[in-house]
Amino acid sequence: MNHEMPKLPYANNALEPVISQQTIEFHYGKHLQAYVNNLNNLIKGTEYEGKNLVEIIETAPEGAIFNNAGQVLNHTLYFLQFKPNPERKEPSGKLLEAINRDFGSFDEMKKQLNAASVGLFGSGWGWLAMDKEGKLSIRQEPNGCNPAKHGLKPILCIDVWEHAYYLDYQNRRPDHVNAIWDIIDWDAVEKRM
Ligand code: MN
Repeated sequence: MNHEMPKLPYANNALEPVISQQTIEFHYGKHLQAYVNNLNNLIKGTEYEGKNLVEIIETAPEGAIFNNAGQVLNHTLYFLQFKPNPERKEPSGKLLEAINRDFGSFDEMKKQLNAASVGLFGSGWGWLAMDKEGKLSIRQEPNGCNPAKHGLKPILCIDVWEHAYYLDYQNRRPDHVNAIWDIIDWDAVEKRM
Protein backbone atom coordinates (compact mmCIF):
# COMPACT_ATOMS: atom_id res chain seq x y z
CA MET A 1 0.00 0.00 0.00
CA ASN A 2 1.40 3.37 -0.98
CA HIS A 3 0.60 5.98 1.65
CA GLU A 4 -0.38 9.39 0.36
CA MET A 5 -0.53 12.97 1.55
CA PRO A 6 -3.99 14.06 2.74
CA LYS A 7 -5.41 16.80 0.51
CA LEU A 8 -5.90 20.01 2.47
CA PRO A 9 -9.51 21.23 2.27
CA TYR A 10 -8.30 24.87 2.63
CA ALA A 11 -5.67 27.19 1.11
CA ASN A 12 -2.20 27.34 2.70
CA ASN A 13 -2.91 30.83 4.08
CA ALA A 14 -6.54 30.20 5.10
CA LEU A 15 -5.84 29.35 8.76
CA GLU A 16 -4.03 32.63 9.47
CA PRO A 17 -3.46 34.10 11.98
CA VAL A 18 -3.76 30.88 14.06
CA ILE A 19 -1.42 28.92 11.72
CA SER A 20 0.57 30.93 9.16
CA GLN A 21 1.06 30.07 5.51
CA GLN A 22 4.77 29.59 6.22
CA THR A 23 4.02 27.04 8.96
CA ILE A 24 1.65 25.13 6.67
CA GLU A 25 4.29 25.14 3.93
CA PHE A 26 6.90 23.65 6.26
CA HIS A 27 4.74 21.52 8.55
CA TYR A 28 2.48 20.04 5.88
CA GLY A 29 4.66 20.52 2.80
CA LYS A 30 8.02 19.42 4.25
CA HIS A 31 7.59 17.57 7.57
CA LEU A 32 4.52 15.53 6.66
CA GLN A 33 5.80 14.87 3.15
CA ALA A 34 9.03 13.51 4.67
CA TYR A 35 7.09 11.17 7.00
CA VAL A 36 5.05 9.88 4.04
CA ASN A 37 8.17 9.36 1.90
CA ASN A 38 10.08 7.70 4.75
CA LEU A 39 7.20 5.34 5.54
CA ASN A 40 6.75 4.28 1.90
CA ASN A 41 10.49 3.57 1.60
CA LEU A 42 10.74 1.76 4.95
CA ILE A 43 7.83 -0.65 4.44
CA LYS A 44 8.95 -1.87 1.00
CA GLY A 45 9.40 -5.63 1.14
CA THR A 46 8.33 -5.88 4.79
CA GLU A 47 5.28 -7.43 6.45
CA TYR A 48 3.92 -3.87 6.86
CA GLU A 49 3.65 -3.19 3.14
CA GLY A 50 0.01 -4.29 2.87
CA LYS A 51 -1.17 -2.83 6.17
CA ASN A 52 -3.04 0.41 6.77
CA LEU A 53 -1.71 3.02 9.21
CA VAL A 54 -3.69 1.81 12.24
CA GLU A 55 -2.64 -1.80 11.61
CA ILE A 56 1.02 -0.73 11.42
CA ILE A 57 0.74 1.27 14.65
CA GLU A 58 -0.93 -1.64 16.43
CA THR A 59 1.67 -4.20 15.36
CA ALA A 60 5.03 -2.52 14.66
CA PRO A 61 7.59 -2.37 17.46
CA GLU A 62 9.02 1.02 18.49
CA GLY A 63 11.29 2.16 15.71
CA ALA A 64 11.40 3.91 12.37
CA ILE A 65 8.34 2.23 10.78
CA PHE A 66 6.21 2.80 13.88
CA ASN A 67 7.35 6.42 14.23
CA ASN A 68 6.72 7.36 10.62
CA ALA A 69 3.36 5.55 10.41
CA GLY A 70 2.30 7.26 13.64
CA GLN A 71 3.27 10.66 12.32
CA VAL A 72 1.47 10.11 9.00
CA LEU A 73 -1.73 9.15 10.86
CA ASN A 74 -1.32 11.91 13.47
CA HIS A 75 -0.79 14.65 10.88
CA THR A 76 -3.57 13.40 8.62
CA LEU A 77 -6.00 13.69 11.55
CA TYR A 78 -4.45 17.03 12.54
CA PHE A 79 -4.60 18.81 9.19
CA LEU A 80 -8.09 17.49 8.35
CA GLN A 81 -9.60 18.76 11.63
CA PHE A 82 -9.20 22.45 10.71
CA LYS A 83 -11.33 24.90 8.82
CA PRO A 84 -11.04 28.68 8.38
CA ASN A 85 -13.71 30.68 10.25
CA PRO A 86 -15.87 27.74 11.39
CA GLU A 87 -19.58 28.54 11.85
CA ARG A 88 -19.49 27.08 15.35
CA LYS A 89 -16.76 26.98 17.97
CA GLU A 90 -18.16 24.09 20.00
CA PRO A 91 -19.05 20.44 19.43
CA SER A 92 -22.69 19.33 19.28
CA GLY A 93 -24.79 16.17 19.31
CA LYS A 94 -23.30 12.89 20.50
CA LEU A 95 -19.79 14.29 20.96
CA LEU A 96 -21.02 17.11 23.16
CA GLU A 97 -23.14 14.66 25.19
CA ALA A 98 -20.10 12.41 25.72
CA ILE A 99 -17.91 15.39 26.69
CA ASN A 100 -20.49 16.62 29.21
CA ARG A 101 -20.83 13.11 30.64
CA ASP A 102 -17.08 12.44 30.96
CA PHE A 103 -15.70 15.91 31.76
CA GLY A 104 -18.68 17.86 33.10
CA SER A 105 -18.50 20.52 30.38
CA PHE A 106 -16.83 21.44 27.08
CA ASP A 107 -14.79 24.12 28.87
CA GLU A 108 -13.45 21.54 31.32
CA MET A 109 -12.44 19.16 28.49
CA LYS A 110 -10.72 22.07 26.73
CA LYS A 111 -8.90 22.99 29.93
CA GLN A 112 -7.67 19.42 30.42
CA LEU A 113 -6.58 18.95 26.79
CA ASN A 114 -4.78 22.31 26.86
CA ALA A 115 -3.03 21.39 30.12
CA ALA A 116 -1.97 17.98 28.76
CA SER A 117 -0.65 19.60 25.56
CA VAL A 118 1.17 22.45 27.26
CA GLY A 119 2.57 20.16 29.96
CA LEU A 120 3.93 17.46 27.64
CA PHE A 121 7.70 17.47 28.06
CA GLY A 122 9.51 17.39 24.72
CA SER A 123 7.86 16.45 21.43
CA GLY A 124 4.49 14.77 21.19
CA TRP A 125 0.75 15.20 21.02
CA GLY A 126 -2.24 16.00 23.23
CA TRP A 127 -5.30 13.90 22.38
CA LEU A 128 -8.97 13.52 23.05
CA ALA A 129 -9.54 9.77 22.62
CA MET A 130 -12.44 7.34 22.98
CA ASP A 131 -12.43 3.76 24.25
CA LYS A 132 -14.52 0.86 22.92
CA GLU A 133 -17.35 1.67 25.35
CA GLY A 134 -17.47 5.26 24.12
CA LYS A 135 -15.78 6.81 27.14
CA LEU A 136 -13.61 9.84 26.39
CA SER A 137 -10.21 10.58 27.91
CA ILE A 138 -7.36 13.05 27.56
CA ARG A 139 -3.97 11.57 26.71
CA GLN A 140 -0.40 12.67 26.22
CA GLU A 141 1.40 10.66 23.56
CA PRO A 142 5.16 11.08 23.15
CA ASN A 143 6.87 11.54 19.78
CA GLY A 144 4.84 9.88 16.99
CA CYS A 145 2.55 7.73 19.11
CA ASN A 146 -1.22 7.67 18.57
CA PRO A 147 -4.05 6.54 20.90
CA ALA A 148 -4.65 3.67 18.44
CA LYS A 149 -1.55 2.02 19.95
CA HIS A 150 -3.61 1.59 23.14
CA GLY A 151 -6.78 0.42 21.38
CA LEU A 152 -8.37 3.88 21.56
CA LYS A 153 -10.01 5.90 18.82
CA PRO A 154 -8.27 9.24 18.15
CA ILE A 155 -10.84 12.06 18.10
CA LEU A 156 -9.03 15.41 18.34
CA CYS A 157 -5.33 16.29 18.55
CA ILE A 158 -2.93 19.09 19.30
CA ASP A 159 0.58 18.78 17.85
CA VAL A 160 3.12 20.19 20.29
CA TRP A 161 6.27 19.37 18.37
CA GLU A 162 8.07 22.71 18.03
CA HIS A 163 7.75 22.51 14.22
CA ALA A 164 3.98 22.97 14.69
CA TYR A 165 4.26 26.42 16.26
CA TYR A 166 7.80 27.78 16.48
CA LEU A 167 7.67 29.97 13.34
CA ASP A 168 4.49 31.67 14.58
CA TYR A 169 4.71 31.54 18.37
CA GLN A 170 8.39 30.77 19.14
CA ASN A 171 8.51 29.48 22.73
CA ARG A 172 4.88 30.43 23.50
CA ARG A 173 3.38 26.94 23.26
CA PRO A 174 0.39 27.87 25.48
CA ASP A 175 -0.62 30.70 23.09
CA HIS A 176 -0.58 28.30 20.14
CA VAL A 177 -2.58 25.67 22.03
CA ASN A 178 -5.21 28.24 23.06
CA ALA A 179 -5.52 29.59 19.52
CA ILE A 180 -6.10 26.18 17.89
CA TRP A 181 -9.71 26.09 19.16
CA ASP A 182 -10.66 28.93 16.78
CA ILE A 183 -10.13 26.76 13.69
CA ILE A 184 -11.53 23.36 14.72
CA ASP A 185 -13.90 21.87 12.14
CA TRP A 186 -16.34 20.21 14.55
CA ASP A 187 -18.22 18.51 11.71
CA ALA A 188 -15.01 16.67 10.76
CA VAL A 189 -14.17 15.83 14.40
CA GLU A 190 -17.66 14.51 15.21
CA LYS A 191 -17.44 12.05 12.29
CA ARG A 192 -14.51 10.31 14.04
CA MET A 193 -16.64 8.99 16.90
MN1 MN B 1 3.87 17.96 13.39
